[in-house]
Amino acid sequence: MIIKEIEVKSVMTKSNLPVSDYSVNPYVGCSHACKYCYASFMKRFTNHPEPWGEFVDVKYWPDIKKPEKYAGKEAFFGSVTDCYQPCEKKFGRTRTLLEQLQGSGISISIATKSDLVLRDLDLIGMFPNARVSFSINTLDEAFRREMDRGVSIERRLAAMKQFYEAGVQTTCFISPIFPGITDPIEIIEAAKRQCNLVWLENLNLRGDYGAKIIEWIHQKHPELDDLYHEIYSKKSREYWISLDQRLREYTKKENMPYLRDDDQHRSEFGEPPVVVNYFYHEEVKKSAKKNQ
Ligand code: SF4
Repeated sequence: MIIKEIEVKSVMTKSNLPVSDYSVNPYVGCSHACKYCYASFMKRFTNHPEPWGEFVDVKYWPDIKKPEKYAGKEAFFGSVTDCYQPCEKKFGRTRTLLEQLQGSGISISIATKSDLVLRDLDLIGMFPNARVSFSINTLDEAFRREMDRGVSIERRLAAMKQFYEAGVQTTCFISPIFPGITDPIEIIEAAKRQCNLVWLENLNLRGDYGAKIIEWIHQKHPELDDLYHEIYSKKSREYWISLDQRLREYTKKENMPYLRDDDQHRSEFGEPPVVVNYFYHEEVKKSAKKNQ
């Protein structure tokens, strides 16, 4: 692992994400090295010859002047890195940023695959509308280990529970859903009493990693070759439509609100969790563009 310390002008980047005003990435690169990492395109802008997952730049930025200018805004922590990857333990850049923004009135949302985030529970809980999201796309540790170097699913669920019980909003982010492998319903079952939002997102293979995932499926799950060919070469939507239907029936039975990402939604704290389906994100984006 190549770790380098770098100076940057600012860590607060105006965001075009629909869910936040700023995106915040205290590191460049991510040692969690997920095989499906959508952020790996960042490598092109980093001058790093090492593969994604093998380098991390640790950012140092000047003190934030007048943090109160962020009052009422929202920041998303970890759009192209994991703010709680292992080197955070040593460098503490995420914690420093939380300290710098403390009392500013900004809302924060943190996405992670690590339980190191528990270290900052007290600080995080002091932000308005704080939310911590844990990515979980399997309950099978062997598959998890093949796909990422985050902490075990058991530890993610345990951390989610602690945040939830401390009154901090939590999201179970079921992403990416691998056709034929990820069972979203068993994950919701494991998390439903300790999260107030579930996000579902399908695997897309548009990035450079797409061919590697298809090859991995071929090596480890040749029985799924045809299914992946249908979905990713022939662009069939049948798998997602039928999973959507299963989820609709399951959430109805469980009395959980079930929304698509084109629905206007606002999560309420408490049980049961709101389940939001992002399977149709691309279609929604396309139709929004057409209507502009
Ligand atoms: S944790 Fe997130 S940013 Fe890090 S490698 Fe995995 S998907 Fe990419």
